[in-house]
Amino acid sequence: MDEFDLIVIGAGAAGLMCAGTAATYGKSVVVIDHAEKAGKKILISGGGRCNFTNRFATAGDFISSNPHFCKSALARFTAADFIGMVERAGIKYHERDHGQLFCDDSAREIVELLLRPCREHGVNMQLNCTIGSIQNNGRFVVDTDRGTFRASALVIATGGLSIPKMGATPFGIRLAEQFGLQIVPTVAGLAPFTFTGREKESLKALAGISLDVSVHCRGKSFAEAMLFTHRGLSGPAMLQISSYWQPGDTLEIDLLPGIDVEALLAEKRQSRPQAMLATILSEQLPKRLVQLLCESHISDMRMSQMSERTMGEVAIRLHCWRLKPNGTEGYRTAEVTVGGIDTNELSSKTMEAKKVPGLYFIGEVVDVTGHLGGFNFQWAWSSGYAAALAIAGH
Ligand code: FAD
Repeated sequence: MDEFDLIVIGAGAAGLMCAGTAATYGKSVVVIDHAEKAGKKILISGGGRCNFTNRFATAGDFISSNPHFCKSALARFTAADFIGMVERAGIKYHERDHGQLFCDDSAREIVELLLRPCREHGVNMQLNCTIGSIQNNGRFVVDTDRGTFRASALVIATGGLSIPKMGATPFGIRLAEQFGLQIVPTVAGLAPFTFTGREKESLKALAGISLDVSVHCRGKSFAEAMLFTHRGLSGPAMLQISSYWQPGDTLEIDLLPGIDVEALLAEKRQSRPQAMLATILSEQLPKRLVQLLCESHISDMRMSQMSERTMGEVAIRLHCWRLKPNGTEGYRTAEVTVGGIDTNELSSKTMEAKKVPGLYFIGEVVDVTGHLGGFNFQWAWSSGYAAALAIAGH
């Protein structure tokens, strides 16, 4: 039986951050993962360049049954703290829209950044390792196909359910249930929308088109790009709102955000009375989209024929295009999982389970889900750091 101060299950973003930090503070640590290599989701993130944090991350960028829970950990280890680590390691990065930070070169650099302290401080890395059972007899005993590991602290960092093909499992949820902790029901987040029937066919005809929109649902709105796909709708705006959408909800999409459509049409009626409405709209929107709108929602006509009322109706159609998805693509392609270990069960300062001393949950397995834009990794860093500090007695 191998004895350690800390067993971390999951060699992903949160687990590696926690293991490296605890080891740096002198703790003996073993990391167990069933995958053949560490940080697989980091490697594919941000199109291979890893959107590793967001310069403007605040608690408002996260979804949770308790929106205040993430505040303490985010304040203790901030985006600036992670940027500091990146800069000290000499990793070149750049900023995209909305404060999103990406590696210039490769996500591999972030995995290496996390693995380096693990190597330097002797973290025992057990990859390709299958866990049999976990018991708690004062100390945690983890039975695996590579032997039995014992420690006074156990950190669960097994992530969410998205992309099972890459090794995502409900391990953390099952373990929480084994220890009698409550779970907030899980659902795929940051996932593309799917449609059925006529809507699916008409959207399919627009596959490949992308445009800036503002989408609204359940009192939330996101102004970003929308992409038509063969299955329905994707792009940042749709991924963001999908984390709030619930079955049966209708999306309201402003196709021309920031443009006063009524005023625009009134001006064109004056200046180009012989022009067709579709021609005028095609100057603002992709032509194929205008064709679709004119086939289903808007009657094409000469500008001179447009009454004030018709102009008002066209404006409503364009500022509030209503679409009802039949679902999302689900965990198969979702970037994250909404829901997870109920935050009421955990200390917001340390991530330790209130009912089970020594047991910690960090990262995506917890009911804290970031918006798109580097927030999910920031939560992994902050929660992993909080647990490590507590375990190291700091
Ligand atoms: P993970 O990083 O998923 O790590 C969990 C680990 O646990 C894995 O190594 C897994 O193998 C292991 N594990 C699972 N089950 C078991 C088990 N039964 N036994 C042993 N080990 C197990 N977020 C961002 O902030 N920026 C991005 O650019 C970004 N891009 C993304 C792109 C894609 C395609 C996806 C899917 C997600 C992206 N995310 C991004 C989200 C981000 O990857 C996750 O939120 C983050 O990795 C969560 O960290 P974690 O440590 O909690 O879980």
